[in-house]
Parts: sequence; structure tokens; C-alpha cells
Amino acid sequence: MGLMTGEEYVESLRKLNLKVYMFGEKVDNVVDNPIIRPSMNSVKMTYDLAQMPEYEDLMTTTSSITGKKINRFSTLHQSTDDLIKKVKMQRLCGQKTASCFQRCVGMDAFNSEYSTTFELDKAYGTKYHENFVKFLTYIQENDLVVDGAMTDPKGDRGLSPSKQEDPDMYLHVVERRPDGIVVRGAKAHQTGICNSHEVLVMPTQAMRPEDKDYAVSFSVPTDTKGIIMILGRQSCDTRKSEEGADIDVGNYNYGGVEALTIFDNVFVPNERIFLNGETEFAGMLVERFAGYHRQSYGGCKVGVGDVLIGAAAVAAEYNGTSKVSHIKDKLIEMTHLNETLYACGIACSAEGHKTESGNFIIDLLLANVCKQNVTRFPYEIVRLAEDIAGGLMVTMPSDKDFKDPIVGPYCEKYLKGVASVSTENRMRILRLIENMALGTAAVGYRTESMHGAGSPQAQRIMIARQGNLPRKKALAKVIARIKE
Ligand code: SF4
Ligand code: FE
Repeated sequence: MGLMTGEEYVESLRKLNLKVYMFGEKVDNVVDNPIIRPSMNSVKMTYDLAQMPEYEDLMTTTSSITGKKINRFSTLHQSTDDLIKKVKMQRLCGQKTASCFQRCVGMDAFNSEYSTTFELDKAYGTKYHENFVKFLTYIQENDLVVDGAMTDPKGDRGLSPSKQEDPDMYLHVVERRPDGIVVRGAKAHQTGICNSHEVLVMPTQAMRPEDKDYAVSFSVPTDTKGIIMILGRQSCDTRKSEEGADIDVGNYNYGGVEALTIFDNVFVPNERIFLNGETEFAGMLVERFAGYHRQSYGGCKVGVGDVLIGAAAVAAEYNGTSKVSHIKDKLIEMTHLNETLYACGIACSAEGHKTESGNFIIDLLLANVCKQNVTRFPYEIVRLAEDIAGGLMVTMPSDKDFKDPIVGPYCEKYLKGVASVSTENRMRILRLIENMALGTAAVGYRTESMHGAGSPQAQRIMIARQGNLPRKKALAKVIARIKE
């Protein structure tokens, strides 16, 4: 099987027997659930765009394993040009969905697993790389979505995994059998797992020798026995399932979802294990994955930012303020911030290098700088968008009020901006800004910008490590003619 169409992707999800819970109930039809569907549509976009000739170069590539055409979301990057195209592809997908399209975590996990398992096998004579290449070949051949699962609940942050009062606060091996392992634990904040065919589990942090059972990586189908997904509650989520609230949703077609994912004694066969007790390689895997995902944000958040900047500019037009100089300057500032994020995403890609295994990895310092900016700039971009939009963004009556025979005409009359634009269109653009600033998409554009791919302090640790202060001090001493 080659590339799947968007429709084939949707149909493939119908065949999964997922255990998804939302609002205290099991969701029997995940694909058609109105609250989940927009998030699935965002992933579907990664399939739809790959079918369009104008995006073929960005969205597809040739597999380094099989030589066949694949979706770029399942590729192993073969050059710095590939790394740059990855960021451009993510910006494009962000522009088309104004949401998290969820498929990047798997891609970032593939590239970090590929190089780490290669170096791990070299050190130990294990077969993890072979296992991983076989798995990735299956993913590429069938054009599947893989959820990369890293973050454990972590319990008491002051204690290591094996010292926790509840040993399941970090996912771990509970049984070793001749044919595989049994694991127990949970992964938090799992972006798009209910739209994924497989879940690829990685450790959440570097591990010490006593945390051997916690240094584990593997992949299993998402409907494997023992996997349970509990969807996160999002601000304004039920607007999606409310009759007659279409405009209130803000972004009707697209969204993103996350889930607390439970692994309740899940069996993993030997051929799907990529790390099993080699604690010193857990840190390498985590660091590489985080680096790739911090690069990713220099693409996806920029694409969403493009939509938000555009929405703010449209709102200004509809308000009749587009020619006011401070409004123009605020749009310039938003653009400057957004392009600075993009510049970092491109820079860490252009400065990438080849790993021992042959695939390419980003420059870690620049990728961490990229993500550090992402923890700040979207907040400022949102602040400026709210400034331009005006207070009506949060005080506007509902879609139903606009359609009501008694109060509807008042809404129409008094909430009109410039005469040439309908009140409905003004309402639509303000609701879109609300969606990204405060609604369901704020999960991805704001808080995920803060905590996704590691919270701000995690990047500062890496920046300190990669910043090479001794060299900078030496440079200064030479210029100052200091002799020691
Ligand atoms: Fe991709 Fe961005 Fe969503 Fe991460 S947050 S999965 S990089 S779209
Ligand atoms: Fe993320």
C-alpha cells in the first residue's frame, strides 16, 4: 500500500477498537464524535495535502529504507534540506488548520529512535535498530499515524522513578517474558493519540542505573489490550457539539485533542522493543527527541500565527481601524515575532548534521533557542491580536441570539462595524481569534507553546549546556589582552 488519501485515513481509523473516554463516558464512535472530529480533520489534512501536486515536494519524499514515495511525516531526514522542508511543511499544515495537526511527534520520535538505537546496538550488540527499522518500514508502507509518547505523570518531582511511592508514576516494565515484556504506567498530554494507529513510547527523562525498569521504549497499536485514553477537557469544547453554535466554535473544521493514556499491563512483543534497561541511552533518546520537537514548533506555531495575524488584520478592517498607525504597527510587531520563530526553526535545520546512523539531526542549541522563544512570543502575538480585535471578542452574543427573531435584529444592528461588511462576518473573525486566544485552539497555540516539547526551564538547561561559555570567555580574554 502506498500513500493513503484523507478518506482512506478516516476509514482506517474506523477499524481501530480504541478505548476512549470523555466526560465520564466511553466514546463508541470516535471518528464521528463532534468534539473529536475536528482534531481528526487536522491529521487528515496531512494526507490531503500530500495528494496535491502543488505540495508534493513538501509533503512527500522518497523513503531512505525502501526507495518508495512516502509522506514526509514518516521520513528519516537525509540532509539539512530535508530538515528545512520539515519546518516548511509544518508551517503549511499550521496555516491550513490553525490547530495542532498532531502527526509531528511520531516523526520526531522516528528520527531520534533511528540514531539512538543504532548507537545502542553498537555499544551492546543488541537488535533494537533492526526492530526499529522493521517497524518504521511498516509505518511508511502503510502511511500510518504514530503518537510519540514521552511525558510520564511523574508524581513527586523530587524523587526518581524507582523512588516514587507509587511505582507506576513512570511507565515501567513489570514482567519480562521469553516473548516480550509487560508494561504499566501512563503517558500524559498525548496529542492526537485517538487519531493514531500506533503509539511509540519513550522514557520521559535520563535514567540512573537503579531506574532500569523505567528505561523502556517500544511501539504497539493504539487498540492494544490495556490501553485506555481519557480525553482532556478543553476550554469551550462543548460548543462543538451544541446545535446551532457553528459560528461560536470559531474554527469549525479543525482542532486538536490530548489524552491521559493509561497502559494497564500492556504486552509488548520482543520485535517491538527499542530500549529495555540500557539506562545510559534513555537520556540520549530524550534529548534528541526534544531537540527535534523544539525545531517542530518553529514551523507549526508559525503557521497558526500566520492565521492569527491574518485574523487580526481582517478584524481591524471590519472595525474600520486598518489605517490607524498603531494598528498597523501592532500587525508589524506580530509579524516580526512570528518570523523570528520561523527564523530559529530554519536556522537549527540549516545548521543540522549527520548522525552516526546516517539520518540528520538539528543543531541542538538553536533548536532550544527556537522553543524558548515559542514559550513567549505566541503570548505576545495573542495579546496584540486581542488588542486589535477589541472587547467584543469576549462579550459578543451567541450564534443563536443572532438568529433569534426578537433579539437577532438588535445584534445585527448594534454589532455592525464598517457598513460594507456583514455583522455575521465580523462575528466570524472575532470568534476565530477567540478560538486561538482563549478557546479550544489555545491549548495548542498558548499553553502547549509553554509546556510542549519541554517547559521553558528544560530549554534553559540545554542552552546552558550547549552555549559554550568557556569559549566565549576565551574570546573576550584575547580581545582584552589578558594573559594568565
Ligand atoms: Fe506538530 Fe506542533 Fe502539534 Fe507538536 S504542537 S504535534 S509540532 S502541530
Ligand atoms: Fe507538541
